[in-house]
Amino acid sequence: MASASDARRIDLPPLLRGQKALVTGANSGIGRATAIGLGRAGADVVVNYVFGREAAEEVVEEITSFGVRAYAHEADVSDEDQVVAMVARMVEQFGTVDVLVANAGLQRDAASAEMTLAQWNKVLEVNLTGQFLCAREAAKEFVRRGVVPEVSRSAGKIVCMSSVHQIIPWAGHVNYAASKGGVLMMMQTLAQELAPQGIRVNAVAPGAVRTPINRSAWETPEAEADLLKLIPYRRVGDPEDIAHAVTLLASDLLDYVVGATIYVDGGMTLFPGFATGG
Ligand code: NAP
Repeated sequence: MASASDARRIDLPPLLRGQKALVTGANSGIGRATAIGLGRAGADVVVNYVFGREAAEEVVEEITSFGVRAYAHEADVSDEDQVVAMVARMVEQFGTVDVLVANAGLQRDAASAEMTLAQWNKVLEVNLTGQFLCAREAAKEFVRRGVVPEVSRSAGKIVCMSSVHQIIPWAGHVNYAASKGGVLMMMQTLAQELAPQGIRVNAVAPGAVRTPINRSAWETPEAEADLLKLIPYRRVGDPEDIAHAVTLLASDLLDYVVGATIYVDGGMTLFPGFATGG
């Protein structure tokens, strides 16, 4: 089902024509919009999901309507064997991988004193280890294949989905903030290590985007008004805002961008509490 924010979509030229993209957590929210955006930009897309098969199939249907290829693949990104199998199947079916968007993520919120080890581990396993496993498998394929100049100037692109909470502490969410802080250093280290092999690793750090992960923060007018106090630009983001940034980062238009985080946050990282004081 098309989301209301589809109306916010801006059509980009086919910047990724002929490229093969894997988007994790692509059946919902930001991953869904990103997978559709990459398909619209000309890429063949693997739509990863873990539980929501029906939603994943709908994303596949929308992507294939652009005349590119797509299929849904069930895999838990925190399971090493499943990630290895997911990338191996992609190489078998699409020939290679050009773009990885390591997007899958979740929250298990609790005050620190109440947080169980299971809550801590689950968030670190999916948000950080999951991104590492996907990046490792994609990088192996990028190195094996090398640069194909007709396709892209680089041997491969990895876009890590981080968050403003890679730098903004977040009470009640210590597992999530730690996972995204980890993503920042993982992304920069991978970028430093892999750039000499022609691989670009970068991150997109969304602020508040209207998706199921943070429904309670925007679904009532009172909650949204509170949230807007944290956003200088005074609007909650749409998944397409993030999809546009990922599409540009994955394309040769931003070929000289390596190891960077693009904050797509309406100014949330500008310390809005200091706008009138301090
Ligand atoms: P969402 O709508 O809840 O989507 C999360 C996606 O991750 C779903 O597709 C889910 O698949 C998938 N997923 C969860 N665990 C997985 C696993 N073990 N293996 C594979 N896939 C898994 O949330 P979202 O807002 O789009 O979040 C996407 C990313 O953006 C996350 O990394 C999140 O931290 C980041 N982010 C979001 C915001 C925001 O305001 N929304 C802000 C900053 C950062 P199933 O549906 O099949 O479970």
